[in-house]
Amino acid sequence: MTFTPHQVFYEPQALDYPLGRNLVDYFRQINIPVQATTSHNRVTGITGKTPVELYQKAKKTLVIGVRHSKTFQTCKPSAHYQLPLATSCPGMCEYCYLATTLGPKPYVRIYVNINEILELTQDIIKKRLPEITVFEGAATSDPLPVEKYTGSLKKTINFFGKQPQGRFRFVTKFTEVENLLDANHHGHTRFRFSLNCEEIIKKFEHGTPSAKERILAAKKVGQAGYPLGFIIAPLFKFENWQEEYTKLFILLEKLLTPTISENWSPKKLSLEFITHRFTPRAKSHILKVFPQTKLPLEESKRKYKYGQFGYGKYIYPSEEMKELKTFLLQLTDKYLPTAEIKYFV
Ligand code: SF4
Repeated sequence: MTFTPHQVFYEPQALDYPLGRNLVDYFRQINIPVQATTSHNRVTGITGKTPVELYQKAKKTLVIGVRHSKTFQTCKPSAHYQLPLATSCPGMCEYCYLATTLGPKPYVRIYVNINEILELTQDIIKKRLPEITVFEGAATSDPLPVEKYTGSLKKTINFFGKQPQGRFRFVTKFTEVENLLDANHHGHTRFRFSLNCEEIIKKFEHGTPSAKERILAAKKVGQAGYPLGFIIAPLFKFENWQEEYTKLFILLEKLLTPTISENWSPKKLSLEFITHRFTPRAKSHILKVFPQTKLPLEESKRKYKYGQFGYGKYIYPSEEMKELKTFLLQLTDKYLPTAEIKYFV
């Protein structure tokens, strides 16, 4: 499942960097339309008559830019800072966590000034010494599908391998991990995969690999000695949900347990569980882009939880939440007993 854009835009400033020049040349050579754009934040050349068309075109558009900002946003509670290697991703998950922040044209952006981004990272780590500073590499994108073009993830992993007080983490739904297996991570990067049961992936996570393919990629990552994790999300209650999630855990056990090598202890495996939730804004966005969606978005079946900043979300009612939690924790106990559960929300 490799990402090949249908059109490419670049900021003229990106040509000041070797990566920018190489990429523009490369896409021209393989006959993908390439044109300049004034800013990676405002790309006007993506057109479509309907929100669906705009969205689909944007997901096939790559923008090569330079990240100018001299700060990183905070990323609480999971990490201290975001580390933006890219923005958006070619996947088309109906419940994408970036949907409301990226707007109606979630085109894929990459940044060619990775060395400057890592210099800024180094400054932040230094300022916070002797504390350890944790950076999240997937707060604005799934960084793996564009790695074959940028190599930024590998550079970042190698960079953190040399940081006694810096840690990196990211999450992906994709599986092209080969190029990262020999990175000098020194256990400082936690490589996480987002997973769900096959029925949910097929229905809602368009353009992404199957659960089995993700687990097989995770197995390689575990064998390469990385601290490994899974985010099982979003969790749904649907007909047969118990059977479907059981199948997923059986698959996890079957594919992962025999991989325990001298490099990898299953104790390094972390699990994060997130139940399905939606905000009114996310619902209205989803209905525009996926008008036929089968996502459960009925407010009357949910509990409204007020948020810290005035906007709330619809989560499962307490009883159903408890049911999901009890069941998923039982599955963990049975099939992945040594995994560390980070949280269940
Ligand atoms: Fe969004 Fe992740 Fe799906 Fe990409 S893979 S569309 S970032 S949820």
